[in-house]
Amino acid sequence: MLKLVDISKSYTIGDFNQNALDNLSVEFNSKDFVAILGPSGCGKTTLLNVIGGLDHADSGDLLINGRSTKNFKDSDWDMYRNNTIGFIFQSHNLITHLSVLQNVEMGLSLSGVSQSERTKRATEVLERVGLKDHIHKRPNQLSGGQSQRVAIARALANNPDIILADEPTGSLDSETSVQIMELIKEIAQEKLVILVTHDSELAKKYASRLIKLKDGQITSDSKPADQDSKTNGIQFKKTAMSFKTAFISSINNIRTKLGRTILTALAGSIGIIGIALILSLSNGLDQQIQNFEEDTLSGYPISITESKLDFEKMMDYGQEDLTEYPDSTSAYVFDESELTSFLQPNTITDDYIQYVQDYVAGDGQETLAGVKYQYYMNMSLLQYYQITSTEGAYMPVYSESIESDDSSTSPYQAAMNIFTLLPDGQVFENNYDLIYGNLPVNNLEEGQIQVVLVVDEYNRIFKSTLEVLGIDTTDITEVNFSDLVGQELKLYVGEYDVLTSDVNDAFTVTISGIIRQKESSNVSLLYNGLGYTSEVTDYITENYPTEVGAIKSINLYPNDFDSKELVKEYLDAYNVGLLDTEKVEYIDQAATITAMVGGVIDTISIVLIAFTAVSLVVSSIMISIITYVSVIERTKEIGVLRALGARKKDISRIFNVENILIGFGAGFAGIVVSLLLLIPINLIIEHFADMANVASLNPIAAIILILISVLLAVVAGLLPARMAAKKDPVVALRTE
Ligand code: ADP
Ligand code: MG
Repeated sequence: MLKLVDISKSYTIGDFNQNALDNLSVEFNSKDFVAILGPSGCGKTTLLNVIGGLDHADSGDLLINGRSTKNFKDSDWDMYRNNTIGFIFQSHNLITHLSVLQNVEMGLSLSGVSQSERTKRATEVLERVGLKDHIHKRPNQLSGGQSQRVAIARALANNPDIILADEPTGSLDSETSVQIMELIKEIAQEKLVILVTHDSELAKKYASRLIKLKDGQITSDSKPADQDSKTNGIQFKKTAMSFKTAFISSINNIRTKLGRTILTALAGSIGIIGIALILSLSNGLDQQIQNFEEDTLSGYPISITESKLDFEKMMDYGQEDLTEYPDSTSAYVFDESELTSFLQPNTITDDYIQYVQDYVAGDGQETLAGVKYQYYMNMSLLQYYQITSTEGAYMPVYSESIESDDSSTSPYQAAMNIFTLLPDGQVFENNYDLIYGNLPVNNLEEGQIQVVLVVDEYNRIFKSTLEVLGIDTTDITEVNFSDLVGQELKLYVGEYDVLTSDVNDAFTVTISGIIRQKESSNVSLLYNGLGYTSEVTDYITENYPTEVGAIKSINLYPNDFDSKELVKEYLDAYNVGLLDTEKVEYIDQAATITAMVGGVIDTISIVLIAFTAVSLVVSSIMISIITYVSVIERTKEIGVLRALGARKKDISRIFNVENILIGFGAGFAGIVVSLLLLIPINLIIEHFADMANVASLNPIAAIILILISVLLAVVAGLLPARMAAKKDPVVALRTE
């Protein structure tokens, strides 16, 4: 069944040419126990390797069942080794990180036998070699004889036609040697066993054919083969290691070097942790900034009102002797008539309104989150005046009319609008402190409106406001809050006529508290007077449509800071070429807040990520080194796997799977550690910046980071894994 024709094999070391096999020809029967004897270095191992397809002859041919192997490809040799050959080595060559059972199963897994069938067959052969009770042990828990039995079981597992044993008793004591020889003899009943030994006693006693070798040539052959060589073709089953087998092998190997693997994974995870933390922080801050932008812009629109003002100048006017944000519970009288010089009319013409509405219907669809118009209204604020000691009447103290969009309202009056709309919700909370009393609560159906008095940062209130409230300001500079809160007015919607109008139709307006812009608020707002909530205007415009007139002011709410710039550009374009008196100006209340913050954070993140990326490179190099060391350490195992029929691909797969696992472990550990670190980091940020849960890791970023970690580990290990795959199995098996 096996025929070697004129096989020659030599090794060249430097200039020296060593003939290992010298024109050797020999033939073997299909069932026989052949012993090859000869001194050390005569070429016995080389002969076995050539027969087993691990090594290939320089010249000559090996015929298997009459078929030449001259045109064998790598895959043919892999299949041949896996299907036809069983190797037994002197030094057992068991894979130490696999159990006895897994060692025996390895050849079977390579030929794609199912797991249950594998276990069944491996258990059977282990039983046969007398190791039934040891199948779950590790090779290092076995004696030398037991190890050799495992090696025999492994060689037998695939039920090969040929068993090649290279000095199987070489490392065993004589008693154990005899037992092993008995076992091999039994096997030889049904297979061709070719056994290399230098113990001629044992050989003579057990083998049925003795071949003596010297200097790569046969010197004697006790019983040359019968001419039984069949010429039927041979069919091999393809070998391929399943991913699962590679996975198990990798897992086991990782387990045996757990400490080192964990260290590698940790080293690998440091870079991931760094990047994850930076991403979390910038992600959180971006989110924060975005929320901030939205909040800000929804509260501080671009306003076009009836007067052009210089807020800064106005706010700074006449405060020389006052303290900012005082703790006192009284308000200062602010004679705002001196401010008139800062004011100019801002005439919102029909043209201008059309210009804005064109934008709202066009480009504004993209840039604006909302538009709010305020209308002139017929309304009066009424204050009760005592006329005689027993009689009194409500008299209008402040009026507004839908006819007054021409000249009857002075710009000064309009700007000093006593009755002023407060921002809604979050914006209100972010920008105002309630410094006295309560926040307003309305009951409009019952005709109850509550308002707050808005004081400026020096606790000032406009003189006109105080007068509306019925306070005589001639000789005083200060008013106690307690004298203001609780004060009542009437709000009459419509044109109030002292003689005919019924005051019972008016709303009762009560001052519920005093508010002041927060010190931390970074927007310049000019609200001074009676602040009411938007609920009130909504109710009135809805219920008194006939008292509502032309557009008085326009509030444009941009989507974000970039959009705001576009809106402003459009509004600026209107004024080009117009006289100063014709120009319509807007107030950008959030002008002091710039869009730069987000950009800065992005830049910082990129720089930090670049730095952390360096640590990823370092950990990749470490993984590369670890894989390299692992390849060196496992050279013997690589040889054994190749002898069992593993393809080059299978070998690199084992290492690649291992690196995937390490990379995944590193990535996963990195994410877990990062998430844990985010807890104290967020607490610290909350402590210093008063922002809760700022840093948060985007789940998609986390997954991508794990994938990057896996990818880096694989790329880093690719070269060593290739190196492992390319190892010559003969050389691999020779290494100690
Ligand atoms: P044996 O098994 O009979 O002791 P081998 O077959 O191992 O002998 O070796 C035969 C000869 O070939 C020896 O002289 C050995 O030094 C040489 N040899 C075997 N393998 C190599 C190798 N990879 N490189 C160089 N020389 C080798
Ligand atoms: Mg040898």
